[in-house]
Amino acid sequence: MLRIAIQAKGRLNEQSLELLAEAGIRVSDSKRKLISRAEGFPLEVIYLRDDDIPQAVAMGVVDLGIVGLNEVEEKGFDVDIAMNLGFGKCRISLAVPNTASYDGPGFFRGKRIATSYPNILSRYFAEQGIDAEIHTIEGSVEIAPSVGMADAVFDIVSSGGTLISNGLTEVEKIFDSQAVLIANNALSEEKQRLAGQLKFRFGSIIESRGMKYVLMNLPKERLDEAVGILPGMRSPTVLPLAQEGWCSIHAVIAQDQLWERIEKLKAIGAEGILILSLENMIR
Ligand code: ATP
Ligand code: MG
Repeated sequence: MLRIAIQAKGRLNEQSLELLAEAGIRVSDSKRKLISRAEGFPLEVIYLRDDDIPQAVAMGVVDLGIVGLNEVEEKGFDVDIAMNLGFGKCRISLAVPNTASYDGPGFFRGKRIATSYPNILSRYFAEQGIDAEIHTIEGSVEIAPSVGMADAVFDIVSSGGTLISNGLTEVEKIFDSQAVLIANNALSEEKQRLAGQLKFRFGSIIESRGMKYVLMNLPKERLDEAVGILPGMRSPTVLPLAQEGWCSIHAVIAQDQLWERIEKLKAIGAEGILILSLENMIR
């Protein structure tokens, strides 16, 4: 039996449960429970505040955890970072009031900076040789400058909207984060085997996200050109069509390259193009 900690509520809760569900692991409603036994895998799910997940994993209270890399880095517990999960992406940045005249990191010398990430920030300032006053506050860091508690903030940014609405400008990006799977680094052999199975499932789900399965018809004489446009897992699958001189091509294309490639394929005569979502991809 393996134990995994996920965030009880908050930004990572839903996507953590979704990842488990896609991996064939169902858990009952988490809302009022601390722990639930999963169906479909020998797993118990423990619901914690994200702040507590790195320590729970380091102590072996749970074997695995899903948490933001920012929390792992800030707390500094010795855990194994098993894989990036591709969601919960954000950065931690220094931001100053719009009215400040910012002239580089030296600006922060002797200034008061409000943050919930004092360890990451003090490491950065130490590297830069900057002496600043770091004020640790738990919530609503972004309002600290406007109420006179701080001269600047070091806070999580994703779209930047919160900074803008508080009259702040992002000036230095210090840390890139996303949700990660962390593991206790002394798992028994049996638990390592189970954790390996889980990682395999997560890995294929994450890899298939952002990929599309594309089918189209194409005049046979343009096949070589199409193969050049469509690098699949090995190469595209080509099937004959009943109509003489035509074939059907199937390929996997990364979402960020999808439209560019579709346009090129249309330009060489592709027709009847179908774009399907991929559920899973096992290389
Ligand atoms: P908890 O009650 O579990 O302590 P929290 O309030 O500390 O929750 P959330 O705001 O739910 O945490 O954020 C959880 C994680 O989501 C963050 O640590 C970070 O890794 C990630 N994240 C992604 N985008 C954002 C964002 N725009 N603001 C805050 N966190 C974000
Ligand atoms: Mg928290």
